[in-house]
Amino acid sequence: MRSFGRLRRNGQVSMELTIGEHAGFCFGVRRAVDKAFACAGEALPCVTLGPLIHNPQEVARLEAAGVRSVDTLDQVEKGQTVIIRSHGVTPQVYAQCAERGIPVIDCTCPHVAHIHQLVREYSSDGGAVIIVGEADHPEVVGIAGWAHGEVFILPTRETAEKAVLPDRAIVVAQTTIRRDRFEDVLSVIRGKVMNLTVRMTICAATSKRQQEAESLSRTADVMIVVGGRNSSNTQKLLETCRLRCARAYQVETPEDVPAGVIRETDRVAITAGASTPQWLLEQVRERIAHDAT
Ligand code: SF4
Repeated sequence: MRSFGRLRRNGQVSMELTIGEHAGFCFGVRRAVDKAFACAGEALPCVTLGPLIHNPQEVARLEAAGVRSVDTLDQVEKGQTVIIRSHGVTPQVYAQCAERGIPVIDCTCPHVAHIHQLVREYSSDGGAVIIVGEADHPEVVGIAGWAHGEVFILPTRETAEKAVLPDRAIVVAQTTIRRDRFEDVLSVIRGKVMNLTVRMTICAATSKRQQEAESLSRTADVMIVVGGRNSSNTQKLLETCRLRCARAYQVETPEDVPAGVIRETDRVAITAGASTPQWLLEQVRERIAHDAT
């Protein structure tokens, strides 16, 4: 946690500002972004399959460096290399790249690749796979693709209650899902699946960020959550903060910092989703400090 202490203006004690130690880029995202910028630096013609991260400002910086995003392999031009993002992809995507002779730089986060392996091995005899997560999230789509048998994607307790589940299955979690939500859905699954193998695959980076946001939002007057509106882990951080701090706001850029809501005497804490770059966090911090004058 980086505390900037009480800012002082004209000799008066003013706002207290803290940035969470675990705010911003996680290991997997940093690795993918560094790799993409390195490719741009080497003038290697490459594209990312889907936006590399859920942060429009960083995606724009990548585009300016020459790495744009494509939605499908059909959009990849001859001579271009495809960067697979940290969310990972299905084995079909690797197969299609190989068939078409498209070189791949695989930035699948090792934590996600581990889930692929768990799912692939467990289902090799047709065993069912249950994923607690959002069905349309690219990471979940990728994980589901590695299963050989039936796949159930259960985002909520209600979907688990309605599902007709087999007698034997493995359950894994989307890496960025909230721990309490996973436990809640799991409690229903346990009552339905007799022979259940549980692999708690929530990423430690996410848990640490969530716990830190929880603890910061208990004492902060204002919580600022920096991250893209299309970033699911940023939305989950906001949910967590709002449970404990009535004045919790999500901002994507410094311009989004709500005007006139931060008082000079407030304790302000900043957290950020896994796809928020450090430079953006600093800009938001500077904006808040400036606005408190
Ligand atoms: S949140 Fe965790 S699993 Fe996901 S990319 Fe980051 S380090 Fe990897």
